[in-house]
Amino acid sequence: MTTLMGLAPTINAAPSDESAAWQNVSWMEQAACAGRDPELWFTFDADEEATALAVCRSCPVLESCLEDAMHEEGGRGAASRFGIRGGLLPNERFNRYKARAQAERRGAA
Ligand code: SF4
Repeated sequence: MTTLMGLAPTINAAPSDESAAWQNVSWMEQAACAGRDPELWFTFDADEEATALAVCRSCPVLESCLEDAMHEEGGRGAASRFGIRGGLLPNERFNRYKARAQAERRGAA
């Protein structure tokens, strides 16, 4: 089965052994995007983007998908994140990363 998440490493960078080991791919078997046109998740067309986001909203593994993306992308800037993952656009994932980092700093203070 081809899932979008299976494409992510080829679009971003080859995953390190650590990230490959971290990924629990079992959730991908339930991905709502499985079997759909991956281009919808990597488009600049607003209608296609809306279609992909609607699929994500109904996805039973949205949280796992998002956490996988957040882990894999780490502290990358918005311009170095690609496609819709976990129901979020690249800039939305970057904003989430920044918010988490700020919350962690406040918690550590
Ligand atoms: S949340 Fe979206 S991108 Fe992630 S597995 Fe589900 S449908 Fe695919």
